[in-house]
Amino acid sequence: MDRYDVIVIGAGNGGLAAACRILNSGKSCLVCERHNIPGGFATSFVRGRFEFEASLHEFNGIGTPEEPGSTRLLFEELGVADKIEWVQLRDAYHLISEEEGYDFVMPFGYEEFAKANNQLHPEGEKYIREFFGICQQIKDAMAYIGETKGKPDPKVMMEKYPDYLACGSYSVNEAFEALGYPKVIVDNLNTYWCYLGADGDNLSFLHYANMIYSYFSKGAAIPKHRSHELSLAFEERIHELGGDIWFNTEVVKILTDSEGHVCGVRLRDGRKIESRHVIANCSPHVAYGKLLDSAAVPERALKLTNFRKLAGRGFTVFLGLSKSAEELGLRDHNYFIYDTSDSVKQYASMKTIGNTAAQATVCLNNALPDCSPEGTAIVYMTTLFTEDEWSKISEKDYFKVKNKVAKSMIERFEKATGTNLQDHIEEIAIATPETYARYTGHPQGTVYGYESQYYDGLMSRIQMVEEDRFVPGLRIGGGYGERLLGYPSSYKSGANEAGRTLRDMEKEGR
Ligand SMILES: Cc1cc2nc3c(=O)[nH]c(=O)nc-3n(C[C@H](O)[C@H](O)[C@H](O)COP(=O)(O)OP(=O)(O)OC[C@H]3O[C@@H](n4cnc5c(N)ncnc54)[C@H](O)[C@@H]3O)c2cc1C
Repeated sequence: MDRYDVIVIGAGNGGLAAACRILNSGKSCLVCERHNIPGGFATSFVRGRFEFEASLHEFNGIGTPEEPGSTRLLFEELGVADKIEWVQLRDAYHLISEEEGYDFVMPFGYEEFAKANNQLHPEGEKYIREFFGICQQIKDAMAYIGETKGKPDPKVMMEKYPDYLACGSYSVNEAFEALGYPKVIVDNLNTYWCYLGADGDNLSFLHYANMIYSYFSKGAAIPKHRSHELSLAFEERIHELGGDIWFNTEVVKILTDSEGHVCGVRLRDGRKIESRHVIANCSPHVAYGKLLDSAAVPERALKLTNFRKLAGRGFTVFLGLSKSAEELGLRDHNYFIYDTSDSVKQYASMKTIGNTAAQATVCLNNALPDCSPEGTAIVYMTTLFTEDEWSKISEKDYFKVKNKVAKSMIERFEKATGTNLQDHIEEIAIATPETYARYTGHPQGTVYGYESQYYDGLMSRIQMVEEDRFVPGLRIGGGYGERLLGYPSSYKSGANEAGRTLRDMEKEGR
């Protein structure tokens, strides 16, 4: 075929979910992916005896079949839920923060987490219950805003969701200051900040509270066979529904007609495929700056895109170790190792290469005991760079610098946990921002889209979703979409953009 109802650029989470929703409605859909496999970040790779997870530390909001979270419900609707085997994580995290001397493990579960805070402060449980009450209201308010398609009744908002409105434009730090909780409770609640990648002075409280509530109330899980299992489930579903995925197929141009409406795409090999609707699973930086002719891009699109701040550039060290997790003394799945729990100071230190920056580290065997051969273990440690420092490294220095940063991260982990990894490294792979930029095409190797800011966070983006669509026929779904970064968000925003595309088609009488 050289004509489809919808073309999806990119088979990352957002693109795959978008394609399933389009195909479920009976329309034709082509997914173009420049790699030879689906998933984008959601993939795995093999070195020696080890199959490494490429990105996922934990997937929030999936819940259980009995108590499904919103993403499980989405997967059911898209027809992929029964193709995936989930493993629930036991604990939320092991936090080690040097400055404050923190070293504790926090469980998942509303009750369990609330009670565990009593070990940090005599009234810990009370504060957490109050905080969760606010989170629940935020969640309900967001559901109501969704039901009203972003046009809520102000009277209902004021009567039913006053805390939501009060928190509206607050950053995380402003909100916690207003709540007046003791430092140790705030520090504990702030542990997940690096998952959204903006510091507490900038991070939107509504977004953050919504995310951590999802983690603690519904827990987190990982697919049994790495995130690649998710991507393969979507690929299979797309084929079942009669859709096409073309791998090794890069889109180099989004074409527009004389009215400025999308009319197709051009592929790297020169072929043109026609469609009036394109969903791009890439960044607006790429869509507006590279894929569209500049004449087709309104000034407002450029202004908004340039105003947004690119979120953290990823750096990950993957280790295949020749000892078991138990022998290494690693009992937890998820470790957060910080120099300080002050996210503003920590974020600032992550601007430059050279500091032993914060790290989120996973020992996969503690969730999936048989993920590697007996007597071995898989550990991967991720940090973020909050400025584009890697583009300043010369080709000559690149390997030296990346090895130095990787070594400092391993040593930092060993010091914090009292373990010895270096003597047992059988395989090592290192992904820098250069790797991520090359693999997914995201600017500067950002792995988190645009930063979630208190003045430009989840809620404002959801409410502005129609106004922020600049080129008729083009929608942008995935980690750069209105729900921002992360696995659940990228699937949801891809599916949401597909829903909006179907409505656009309905309006056109198609
Ligand atoms: C190390 C790491 C750890 C992470 N940990 C977690 C975690 O624990 N929990 C969590 O929720 N999130 C995590 N994330 C974030 C999560 O992986 C991403 O937010 C999510 O996968 C992004 O999905 P996406 O839909 O934006 O697609 P992407 O993964 O960005 O994929 C985009 C796809 O589009 C393709 N493409 C781009 N341009 C073109 C083109 N012109 N033509 C054809 N194809 C094109 C690319 O090849 C790619 O396959 C992590 C990310 C990393 C890197």
